[in-house]
Amino acid sequence: MATDGVLIVGGGLAGLCCAVRLQQAGVPFQLFESADAVGGRIRTDMVDGFRLDRGFQVFLDSYPEARELLDYEALRLKPFLPGALVRYGGRFHTLADPWRRPGKAIGSVFSPIGTFSDKLRIASFRSSTLRGSLDDQFAAPETTSLESLQQHGFSASIIERFFRPFLGGIFLDPELRTSSRMLRFVFRMFSTGNATLPADGMEAIPRQLAAKLPATSIRLRNRVAKVEPRAITLASGERIEGRQTVLAVEGSAVRELLADAAATPEERATVAEAGQSVTCIYFSASSAPVAEPVLILNGDGEGPVNNVCFPTVVTPTYGPAGKTLVSVTVLGTAADPQRLLADVRRQLEQWFGSEAAAWSILRVYTIPFALPRQFPPALSTPRRAVRLASGLIVCGDHRDNASINGAMVSGRRAAEAFLEGPR
Ligand SMILES: Cc1cc2nc3c(=O)[nH]c(=O)nc-3n(C[C@H](O)[C@H](O)[C@H](O)COP(=O)(O)OP(=O)(O)OC[C@H]3O[C@@H](n4cnc5c(N)ncnc54)[C@H](O)[C@@H]3O)c2cc1C
Repeated sequence: MATDGVLIVGGGLAGLCCAVRLQQAGVPFQLFESADAVGGRIRTDMVDGFRLDRGFQVFLDSYPEARELLDYEALRLKPFLPGALVRYGGRFHTLADPWRRPGKAIGSVFSPIGTFSDKLRIASFRSSTLRGSLDDQFAAPETTSLESLQQHGFSASIIERFFRPFLGGIFLDPELRTSSRMLRFVFRMFSTGNATLPADGMEAIPRQLAAKLPATSIRLRNRVAKVEPRAITLASGERIEGRQTVLAVEGSAVRELLADAAATPEERATVAEAGQSVTCIYFSASSAPVAEPVLILNGDGEGPVNNVCFPTVVTPTYGPAGKTLVSVTVLGTAADPQRLLADVRRQLEQWFGSEAAAWSILRVYTIPFALPRQFPPALSTPRRAVRLASGLIVCGDHRDNASINGAMVSGRRAAEAFLEGPR
């Protein structure tokens, strides 16, 4: 079969944003997605009346690319409280709003979470991340996030009790080896907006993008087995020719598909990346032990749990009436899931008392490849070329940075690369 359109492989945010940009330019396209729906790593399952995102994640409403493309009102975004509740030394401690009110973040001089000078350092780091453009932030010297925090003079207590679980939960990297450029980006995003959940679940984001596209242009349950610069072959054996192939699959799937394409080994090396893994466990509870929409962090560094939250407290639309959804995030994946579950339960009972023993398990999501690993020098070129010498165009969060915003930007850049034509 031949088409005069662009062939997009992958219906995650990158593929969808590429399609939206092509659509705006009046260029026909066909998008091929192997799964039963678009969304890629952003999917939401309905289980017993609960909305379970496939791995806990949040949408930062300050993401600049998302602001351009998404209708926030229709998404009915519900914010978390800025800051966190830190579990440390057998108690919960509030870290109010380090992003916008650093002076008030650490309640008292006796707080074990951070020192008085940490407040000043948060304020100065924050203003340095707000300076200039986002590109300026991604041009700052690159080291690991941990080294950057240490260089900035943060105390060991605030690093261990707040930054490690907080950023570790965002980068899915407990060692904080992720590029300091991501740290600056995330700090800026939290300082200028809120972490939110869409009322209908995270999948509402890709669904809103897909709704902008003609239904006939999206072919679900169509796995692409082979890509060429201007053709693809489906797993069914069907070969389709087009004007251009755009590869919008996750980093872990790129290597396989590029193996047959004419990409050079160097090009393959820039796109095929290791990933960060995570396990998310959801429970149903009859009530929430915490009344506010806050993220709870493990500041002790002991036990498997990195963070806990109650999405139904953020927005009741995440569960049936009278029920509470408990989301527990564990970094990495466990060799022995049963043992992990037992350890998680024990820890939840320590934190929340005997009521946690009655929480019933809804589902466990084990996600071996949640984010591309972006340790230095991964972001030494923050925007990697999307057009390969072979003639293929590639996009995905591995081209920009490991975030919803990065995936969206990469998709737009892929479409623009096509519209500009080969140079
Ligand atoms: C648990 C978790 C937590 C996260 N937390 C956050 C967060 O809090 N904030 C944030 O900004 N980001 C977060 N992220 C990252 C964010 O979700 C991703 O960066 C983004 O969704 C990636 O989009 P993408 O289009 O690049 O890739 P993907 O979403 O992976 O899309 C790739 C698509 O290609 C399809 N595909 C693969 N191979 C083929 C093939 N052969 N044929 C056809 N189709 C194929 C896949 O099915 C998939 O739909 C998180 C991710 C996870 C998993």
